[in-house]
Amino acid sequence: MSKIVIVGGVAGGATAAARIRRLDEKAEIVVFERSGYVSYANCGLPYYVGGVITDAEELTLQTPESFRSRFAIDMRVHHEVTAIHTEEKTVSVHNLETGERWEESYDKLLLTPGAKPIVPDLAQKDDPRVFTLRTVEDTLKMRAFCETQHPRKAVIVGGGFIGLELAENLTESGVSVTVADLQPQVMGQIDPEMAAFVHDKLIQKGVTLALGRSVRAIRTELFGVELGDGTVLEADMAVLAIGVSPESALAKEAGLLLGVRGSIVVNDRMETSAKDVYAVGDAVQVKHFVSGADAMISLAGPANKQARVAADNICGRDSRYLGAQGSSVLKLFDLTVAATGINERTAKAMHLDCEKVYLSPMSHAGYYPGGKVMTMKVLFDPKKDRLLGAQIVGGEGADKRIDVLAAAIRMEMPASKLSELELAYAPPYSSAKDPVNMAGCMIENIETGTLAQFHWDEVASLPRDGSVTLLDVRTEEEYAAGHIDGFSHIPVDDLRERMGELDPKKPLYVMCQSGLRSYIACRILMQNGFACRNLSGGYRLYRTAVKNGAAAERAMPCGKE
Ligand code: FAD
Repeated sequence: MSKIVIVGGVAGGATAAARIRRLDEKAEIVVFERSGYVSYANCGLPYYVGGVITDAEELTLQTPESFRSRFAIDMRVHHEVTAIHTEEKTVSVHNLETGERWEESYDKLLLTPGAKPIVPDLAQKDDPRVFTLRTVEDTLKMRAFCETQHPRKAVIVGGGFIGLELAENLTESGVSVTVADLQPQVMGQIDPEMAAFVHDKLIQKGVTLALGRSVRAIRTELFGVELGDGTVLEADMAVLAIGVSPESALAKEAGLLLGVRGSIVVNDRMETSAKDVYAVGDAVQVKHFVSGADAMISLAGPANKQARVAADNICGRDSRYLGAQGSSVLKLFDLTVAATGINERTAKAMHLDCEKVYLSPMSHAGYYPGGKVMTMKVLFDPKKDRLLGAQIVGGEGADKRIDVLAAAIRMEMPASKLSELELAYAPPYSSAKDPVNMAGCMIENIETGTLAQFHWDEVASLPRDGSVTLLDVRTEEEYAAGHIDGFSHIPVDDLRERMGELDPKKPLYVMCQSGLRSYIACRILMQNGFACRNLSGGYRLYRTAVKNGAAAERAMPCGKE
């Protein structure tokens, strides 16, 4: 009978323990978990703070008792593993309740210690009004503070997933929230022009943004968060959510090979550099499925999949984990923010050949009530017809489109073939040509030269000296309500009649509200001998991006460095 010891009993640890038992009824399985809970729903924690989840018991999917009775697994909470001895094949264990310490032997060891919140070295960071969110205990503490102290103002440092989920939950419970972030945008996994829509939503919901601002200290006399420029954001509570770092100190001390940001290096069988020691989850280094780069991807899906792979291999099978692509989704009030693969910033940094299409389709058929516009960005390598990534900011239906795109990326489907996917359709759910199909059609148009584009971040540098024609093809009303400087106006429906007003020798840059009517205009003009480019994403994307200062983040157009 082999003995398997697991460090950490939540996403990776609990999943692996259950899988090992399903494969090996005889194995002795011991799980040590430092906190007081196992298999808890980390992802649900912010919703308990905000009162969406009302019963704390809902946060724990299993208990040590349920693991014991169903899986015959010895789950020990309040037990911390304090050292790993790979030569002796033992771990040092500390019972945090009794103080008892001992060495526990193993045949196979699985490390799933996760990642801990990064706490910057700020003065007064240990003040009881300063919180981080990782465990059920953290959540109970934050909720108790909200219930007893009734904070009116909160500063959340960090505009990533956890920061924004808390921003929503605290706002919904009546707290006035400021989100401060060193970056000029929230949600670093999406590009700045897409984040601009997220900023709009946060502002609309009353959240104050302090972006591009460093945080220097916590001030306790008049409680608040002091920014790098000396401004103090007064508050009744502060949350530090600037990211996580792998909990790899034990692995380091045991001499295991470490990689990106101190994460534990594993091979595709989830084996570490030490014999019979496996590791999975937030603590490990993974290969990015799209870029091939070594990465740290702290998400529950990869942790669960890696856990199954490790469990299989621990039990003598041969399973492989082929990488993570960072598929993620966030609910932010009535907005859904979803992404998969790499973003444009990463593509540029890696000097990949990349192009992008933007579209703003309805979630379902326009004639069926309740449809919501979403903004989609799909990145692809036009020479290889390869999908690189996608981002969607919208409402209903954004999640399902990102999942289709994530599956297409995983299966290495050619980008233009998205147009061929036969996706389920009825008016309340989609359109006969689903947004994903539309993206494929647009990609095919670009790759075949049926349409050329220019992008929102190139508009400012277009010549205004008459050497090119800048043309807006929206209606009179739309043009009057707001247009880009230098763009003349002919509505698309008048274009055939008024084509004589345009100089066929001059390149044409054409725009409309979303990019669809200007595409039609471009096709009319191209077939009449004009050289045209279409503003991808149209005025809607341009205006949102520029208004939000995404232009400040402007970098070289993709693939043209
Ligand atoms: P964890 O699930 O964190 O488990 C690690 C456990 O190991 C911890 O409980 C810790 O106490 C224990 N441990 C560490 N060291 C020791 C030791 N020495 N001895 C004993 N025990 C130890 N991901 C998503 O995909 N979607 C989401 O919506 C999402 N929301 C999240 C919201 C919050 C608030 C948080 C904190 C995370 C969220 N995540 C989300 C991330 C997701 O929870 C993690 O990616 C996932 O839990 C990682 O699994 P893991 O097993 O590596 O680590």
